[in-house]
Amino acid sequence: MTAFDLIGSKEKAVAIVEMEEGEDEKAVAEKIMKFNKNVKSILKKISEIKGEFRTRGYKLIAGNENTEVVHREYGYLLKLDPRKVYFSPREATERQRIAEQVKAKETVLVMFSGIAVVPIAIAKKQPEVEKVHGIEINPDAHKYAEENVRINKLAHKIALVKGDVREVARKYFGKFDRVVMPLPLGAESFLDVAVNCLKKKGGVIHFYNLGREEDLYSSAVKLIEESVEKMNGKIKVLNKRKILPYAPGKWKICIDFKTAGVPKSGLRGRLQKPVD
Ligand code: SAM
Repeated sequence: MTAFDLIGSKEKAVAIVEMEEGEDEKAVAEKIMKFNKNVKSILKKISEIKGEFRTRGYKLIAGNENTEVVHREYGYLLKLDPRKVYFSPREATERQRIAEQVKAKETVLVMFSGIAVVPIAIAKKQPEVEKVHGIEINPDAHKYAEENVRINKLAHKIALVKGDVREVARKYFGKFDRVVMPLPLGAESFLDVAVNCLKKKGGVIHFYNLGREEDLYSSAVKLIEESVEKMNGKIKVLNKRKILPYAPGKWKICIDFKTAGVPKSGLRGRLQKPVD
């Protein structure tokens, strides 16, 4: 066993295990359950994160078939089934880093919002936020997201929509101070939508992507520059950082950048002033 993650609570948790080929599943499961009495199910990773919903294939190697849990991080609760939705407990610190940047009165759009963990992290950390909107395409994730907003009593701060960002976001054009894009594999094809969602005066976009170890950020910055240039815009990079290893030689990264919004008249081909 190389590593395992625990998702859940003191009463009921699921262990997610990465195992070498040929390792004894039963022995590994027994060891984890012996030292972690709250672990009621053990899931072995059997695929990469895949598909539009960014879920992983798991094999239940021990314990209860019901793998729905309530996970706590930074004072909020998250109900989820790791077999149905994307969720990584390892990204809790990164969520706080985003949440810490949000200022009072901001309106924030979280694309690809999953079980609403980023909207909830933001609304908890910055109670003066005007509103956080989330868009998610996986119906199971959306269902958990709605429940999580209820559990954390944040319905007055968070609005969620089920659907494809590309279709749904149109009604949000020009409305946001900040857009979060937590889809490392593929967020680039939504950059035009994100820029269009910013208020005319501009705002900040948190763009997640993958970077090669030898040159972590150049290709992501180039993707952003090319997309925004096509819209006659300019960007100012505010921050770049690596989040977690993604695959051998590859990291999940985030680029925070600032750009101007789009005048009401046109979505593309607009003339944009350079940002300071
Ligand atoms: N933000 C969540 C988090 O941090 O846990 C989920 C991140 S997960 C990497 C990406 C999410 O985007 C998945 O839940 C997936 O279903 C959703 N997604 C993928 N393509 C989408 C699209 N076109 N529109 C809306 N959601 C999408």
